[in-house]
Amino acid sequence: MTHCPNCNEKIEEGFEVCWKCNYSLTEQKIIEFPDEDASSRNLNCLRCCVSMLYSGKFKFHEGVNPGVFGNIFEIFLNRESFDLYSCPKCGKIEFFRPLNK
Ligand SMILES: [Zn+2]
Ligand SMILES: [Zn+2]
Repeated sequence: MTHCPNCNEKIEEGFEVCWKCNYSLTEQKIIEFPDEDASSRNLNCLRCCVSMLYSGKFKFHEGVNPGVFGNIFEIFLNRESFDLYSCPKCGKIEFFRPLNK
């Protein structure tokens, strides 16, 4: 058992980051999670039952052939960027609308 040097909250043995203020004991500073909302989605690949990985933002821009996306192209019409998730096992890719927009 140790204490967070930043907010003095108790930190259980084995943890390296304070759950309360995100202070990292290893880096000795508060770490930030800029994409916390997006990456906190807990998605499982329906086929493989493994967690899908947040792969960043997909930006839709001119020059992409709509035919590549087929039916899902419709969801792109009024949006410009999406959260992209992929399954590390079978390579399946899924798009999600950004949470805060
Ligand atoms: Zn703390
Ligand atoms: Zn999969």
